Amino acid sequence: MKNLIIITIVSLVVGGFIGAKVMELLGREYIMANLPVPKGTIDDKDVFFESLPEAGTVPRKKLHPVNRKAKNVILLIGDGMSISQIASYRLLKGGPNERLAVDRFPVSGIVLTHSANAIITDSASSATAYSTGSKTNNSYLGLDKDKNLLENLTERIDRYGLVSALIATSEVTHATPAAFAAHVDLRWKTDEISRQMLASNVSTILGGGRHFFLPERLGGEREDGRNLLEEIKESHALLTKKDQLNSFDKTDTRKVIGLFADEHLRNEKEPENHSSEPTLKDMLRFALERSAMYMEKGCRGSFIMVEGSQVDWAGHANNINYLKTEMQDLDEAIQLALEHAKENQDTLVIVTADHETGGLLIEPANPADYTGNKVKFSFNTAIGRGSHTGVPVPVYAYGPGSENFSGTLDNTDIYHGMVAAMDLNTEVGSCMDK
Ligand SMILES: [Zn+2]
Repeated sequence: MKNLIIITIVSLVVGGFIGAKVMELLGREYIMANLPVPKGTIDDKDVFFESLPEAGTVPRKKLHPVNRKAKNVILLIGDGMSISQIASYRLLKGGPNERLAVDRFPVSGIVLTHSANAIITDSASSATAYSTGSKTNNSYLGLDKDKNLLENLTERIDRYGLVSALIATSEVTHATPAAFAAHVDLRWKTDEISRQMLASNVSTILGGGRHFFLPERLGGEREDGRNLLEEIKESHALLTKKDQLNSFDKTDTRKVIGLFADEHLRNEKEPENHSSEPTLKDMLRFALERSAMYMEKGCRGSFIMVEGSQVDWAGHANNINYLKTEMQDLDEAIQLALEHAKENQDTLVIVTADHETGGLLIEPANPADYTGNKVKFSFNTAIGRGSHTGVPVPVYAYGPGSENFSGTLDNTDIYHGMVAAMDLNTEVGSCMDK
């Protein structure tokens, strides 16, 4: 009798379990088979808002006083790089448990990127926010929204005896580096931008864009007829090949401009014009050596801006392989900056972006299947449209003053955080004149 009761209970439990499993499977299949699939094109899901609330004034982030000042500040900007670009590169490089250089930073935050006149910023106004601490209109460089001149960071720290360097994989006259050395009301005024950059006290400018220094009659793009590649020689040492970064006399105090391609670096369509180009890491190493040399000769500190310019272009092109290449180049430069900061504890490293580009998503390869490691990288701003987005971007910081880069920041707070970390108490004058 007792055995019969046990057998009955076991049968009921096992039967109930199997029955529940069968029902669960049938139920899931039924649900998956009857998932409502939206009709229409992908554009039909878009919702347009004609009038968001007015911007008002930017709430300034309260800064912590930085007692131990940073002698060196390295600002690395991934143009168009938000969390999804970083996450995609992490997956492509080594899977979900891979760790990139930014993953090793102890401080991180979120940056809001809107410009003075638009929710969606362009690279000029966002770079001006980083270089001056002021919001401005899209396409303006180093000017406020009323076109008044703004002193930029390299000009400001020059008065305090600090030395600056600007590095990019675009033409050096492109928006991000230009915002740190020029003041124009249209980012495409490259004749004017290149002239102002050469007249600036920035010690080292490295990237592409020789054609913006040559007149049209010599195959360049300048409309003013000037041959800046000749004029450069009076004030700068001109480098055009990667090898020269190694062979250049490290004690030479002349200003350096490195133009390693006619147009931007790494143009796959014209590889013959790009066979002897440096990576971002090569250029950063050179700039770090130059900063050390200038400080030995009396400069009180240094600032280096490094831009991974083409992360943005990969987003515009909706090209994940291009994105991977550019993220790798930037990741290696960030790694070098971090190693340098760990060896030189007076160095503040900040990694951020100016905006997101491409509306990049990481989706399951099959929307009804969340298993395995198959994913779909999809860009959600079609080619040819305004492809920057208003999605905030991350900021990562390491070193003295890094505490001012956590939480939610406006893009102008990046500038104020850098200034707070620098020793700008005594105006000793430019160290480039000495
Ligand atoms: Zn940009």
